[in-house]
Amino acid sequence: MSTAYERQPSPKSEAFLASVENSKYDRQIITGLQKFFDGKAPANMRDLYSPVELQTLRELRGTPKDVEKRMPVKVTRHYCEQAKKSAPMRTLIKATPAETVDLDGAPDPGRQMDYSPVEGLIHKYELGLIYVASTCSAHCRFCYREELIARKEVERPDGTMAPKGLAQIEEIVRYILKHNAEVRANGGTHPQTGREKLREILMSGGDPMVLSNSNLASWLSALAEAGIEQVRIGTKEMAFFPDRFDATFMDMLDKFHAAYPGVQLRMMVHFNHPDEFLQMDDAGGYIDDPAGGLTWLPNTRRAVAELGKREWLSIDNQAPIIKGINDDADALRIMQRELRRHRIENHYFFCGRDIVGHKAFNVPIEEAWRILNNSQKGLSGVEGHALLSITHYKGKTEVVAVTNQPIKGVAHSERGVIIFKLLRSAKDAPDKGKVAIAGRNPSAIWFSGYTDRVVFDELGLFDEYIALEKKAQAPTPMQLAAVE
Ligand code: SF4
Repeated sequence: MSTAYERQPSPKSEAFLASVENSKYDRQIITGLQKFFDGKAPANMRDLYSPVELQTLRELRGTPKDVEKRMPVKVTRHYCEQAKKSAPMRTLIKATPAETVDLDGAPDPGRQMDYSPVEGLIHKYELGLIYVASTCSAHCRFCYREELIARKEVERPDGTMAPKGLAQIEEIVRYILKHNAEVRANGGTHPQTGREKLREILMSGGDPMVLSNSNLASWLSALAEAGIEQVRIGTKEMAFFPDRFDATFMDMLDKFHAAYPGVQLRMMVHFNHPDEFLQMDDAGGYIDDPAGGLTWLPNTRRAVAELGKREWLSIDNQAPIIKGINDDADALRIMQRELRRHRIENHYFFCGRDIVGHKAFNVPIEEAWRILNNSQKGLSGVEGHALLSITHYKGKTEVVAVTNQPIKGVAHSERGVIIFKLLRSAKDAPDKGKVAIAGRNPSAIWFSGYTDRVVFDELGLFDEYIALEKKAQAPTPMQLAAVE
């Protein structure tokens, strides 16, 4: 049935889409462990796993500890080749039995389904996030979208269970048009949610760069014509397969910009470690670039340089700090410096989320803060302005500081305190900037590690976890009956 918010693609959009050229890409992907088990992986990728590792993983197949049920295995030849010289890259891409030893974690991290008014859209903050793909060219073992990529069923607000679906252009455009019309009619904020106009969309997944240029162009023009002013493309393709950023992709971007010059594009890239983009010698050392800095992999350098020529487009890096991959201040310092040298801003570093299996990947929160803080010693202001963020279901929260000295007269501060600040609130903009302070717990990997030592909490950051603990400790009806 047609509604007032049906999309009517303009002649400009049709002309743009007709001009887009697609390429075929030979990523040489291995999907799943079976090819490794059977010895059928290409010769130059076969030795990613040792025979002993394969035997251990084979024994877990079909059991509750099956690593591929938690997160499917996928790797590109480009990443595999570079990983030969890099232990952190191997840790990022290789399945290990450790990841299913403890399967504790949230099936829907960040409670995204509570903020999903349309399938495939998360409208939690002032920007909307859309899932446009459910896979990437390769899969990080720590992936915080493992529920989407492994197609797991998650609980909806109405109690039903279903895998997360992908966004559909018509439905998303209809939602944006309707939402923004209601905001306009209400004088600038939405009558039910209090949110402002939806101006910005993050295309995510999975990785949008697994889509064809035509498919990406369809999304871009539809969002532009729905009134979106900024589109972010969240991608790790620069690490997994930099050749995807070829001339046909750049041509599509240029044509989009020519057709919709008012829409800003932001490439949100995802490098975890400098090994992913720097050339290494046989001993794994970086190579000085005679022109300054360090020598990049030629195809990554080319892709970044091409994006960098387009002054109407910004490039930002954001990445989680993960155990055994980049919990290394020296590596992060090199990465931040090199990225900034090549026009890539250092945006956020994240603490790992409470995904299923997170205990195998998460660095303690205080340790992550210390690592990032140390990594930024010696960086200039423009190189080292990334924040450490941890995503609470209430909103994006910054780990502002970790102190070492007791504060006289303040309970729980014997070893110092940790300070959190709300950067972006899911619902209530007035909460932005509010803080929570807790006594230190160096082994905490999630907010639940601080419930017994809260010093100050104007945010209610710990309320739910305290309530959960009280509920768990309350006597059961059977225990109460036994007492009576
Ligand atoms: S690139 Fe992002 S979405 Fe894809 S597997 Fe890695 S963490 Fe997950």
